[in-house]
Amino acid sequence: MRNTLFITKGRLDPLAKNAFGLYIHVPFCLRRCLYCAFASSVLRPIPSHLYTLALIAEASSKLHHFSQYTLDTLYFGGGTPSLLDDHDIALFLDFIASTQGLATPRELTLEANPEHVSPARAKSWKSLGFTRISLGIQAFDDDTLKFLGRKHSSTQAQIAVDTLHQAGFDEVCIDLIYGAQIPGDSPSHALHRWAHSLKTAQKLAPAHASCYELTLEPHTPLWTRHQRGSHVLCDDDTLATMMQIIPETLNMPQYEVSNYTDGSAFSAHNLSCWMGIPYLGIGPAAHSMHIAPQGVIRRANAPDVRAYLDDFQRAQTLHAPFSPAEAFAETLSPQMHLAERLILAARTRFAWNPADIARQLGADLTPFLPHLKRAQTLGLLESRHDQTLRTTPKGIRLNNRLDEILFDGAPETT
Ligand code: SF4
Repeated sequence: MRNTLFITKGRLDPLAKNAFGLYIHVPFCLRRCLYCAFASSVLRPIPSHLYTLALIAEASSKLHHFSQYTLDTLYFGGGTPSLLDDHDIALFLDFIASTQGLATPRELTLEANPEHVSPARAKSWKSLGFTRISLGIQAFDDDTLKFLGRKHSSTQAQIAVDTLHQAGFDEVCIDLIYGAQIPGDSPSHALHRWAHSLKTAQKLAPAHASCYELTLEPHTPLWTRHQRGSHVLCDDDTLATMMQIIPETLNMPQYEVSNYTDGSAFSAHNLSCWMGIPYLGIGPAAHSMHIAPQGVIRRANAPDVRAYLDDFQRAQTLHAPFSPAEAFAETLSPQMHLAERLILAARTRFAWNPADIARQLGADLTPFLPHLKRAQTLGLLESRHDQTLRTTPKGIRLNNRLDEILFDGAPETT
């Protein structure tokens, strides 16, 4: 199994190897989905080549922060990475391959929209070395897709999954969204639509599924509808049932609050983030994390795509290294980092040893002990014979509550 470096006998290994992940943000979309608040822009034409040159320039100026680590996972996320021209993706991957000291990543993921999948592109992505394609499907129900403002149809999405399988991808992952209530639908109708999407997904046999609850992000069109009195979200009971039927209908165990797999296709990139493994994010709005002597440094690029490209062109004219504007940079103390690591571990169904995590970070577990105990008393965490803890099904269901309890152990300031 590919992820034994992180999971040993169902347990998260806090001493995972000296790895880092590379995240490439592709902030372009052909139009905005009605629920979306992600950092992406509608630009036409898509400046695929210029943007790729900017990504290479930014990566060149930042990879030295990660020189003591081995490149383990590489992830093109968005936005819509499948809007990048395959020649440009190849250019970026050639840059990685030719950069001294970078190993070939063991997991190479591309997020794609179903309407961009064709036999020719699937073949091209395979030959570029992608091991995992993550499809933004959201629903196998045309009314729901229209309600969410997606461009593709259910049929297109099903064909996309089959096409990727036929091209030889073992790890086809699908993203789905639950909790939408189309005006005029009853709660049972909404539940029926969700069950239909899950059953269709199960028949297509993806290796992995991520199921996200629809949330109303401020100033999105769906949020505006809701503000004007239209019920666009299901009630709590329907939501609870929607979540409950996911693993049995997909026939995949849940291994994290939003993630399911049959046991062979955990996302190594996401596991790395939950394990506190450093990552470099490049592109507008991309986040990075690395460990420095003064603590854990977290930073994020500014989100404006046009400003990012303008800054790149200015740097090119001046023959200067390209380092885009930042939205923020912060240093986390070991105690804050411990709080974050406990919260991330508690999102999963794997076992973890809080003392090992604290020791690894040079942090003090003592302030967290009463809160860990409290979570156990409430049935959100269970203790196991080997000193490890594990989130219970109730703790997964009430994960926000568990977050709050664990965060109470964090210091007041960083
Ligand atoms: S394709 Fe993805 S990133 Fe683009 S608008 Fe839709 S949900 Fe947002």
